[in-house]
Amino acid sequence: MRCPFCGNIDSQVKDSRPAEDHVAIRRRRFCPACGGRFTTYERVQLRDLVVIKSNGRREDFDRDKLERSIRIALQKRPLDPERIDQMISGIVRRLESLGETDIPSKQIGEIVMETLARIDTVAYVRFASVYKNFQEADDFDKFVSELRPDKDKPKPEE
Ligand SMILES: [Zn+2]
Repeated sequence: MRCPFCGNIDSQVKDSRPAEDHVAIRRRRFCPACGGRFTTYERVQLRDLVVIKSNGRREDFDRDKLERSIRIALQKRPLDPERIDQMISGIVRRLESLGETDIPSKQIGEIVMETLARIDTVAYVRFASVYKNFQEADDFDKFVSELRPDKDKPKPEE
């Protein structure tokens, strides 16, 4: 596994333990090149999901992207990180059990909103308000940047 800090490909596993009620294996890794420490998760992937965007384009489902958007919506909310992992795994399991390989992006957004609504109202409102604009733009990177509360950064003048 490549070290996310220095790019060295020979990181070492220091510790492995079950996580999320044995749905995942959590590995603590150490990079001998830079001394960096990071965590990876190993999970069963039942099938390769494809996201169908509203403009008809297809894209491989990316759990990390989903996770990023959810973590941003949950920023500074009092939620246990383990609980967030469980929630994301739950969403992915739901997607995998839909019985279809191709899933409209709209349906993913709805499942995320449904899940957030049950767990954290503030995060739900954050996600939902940005999601509505996102559906028109259908641009995930824009979506994530709008969710990010980086209001202090100066915007380039037009
Ligand atoms: Zn490193």
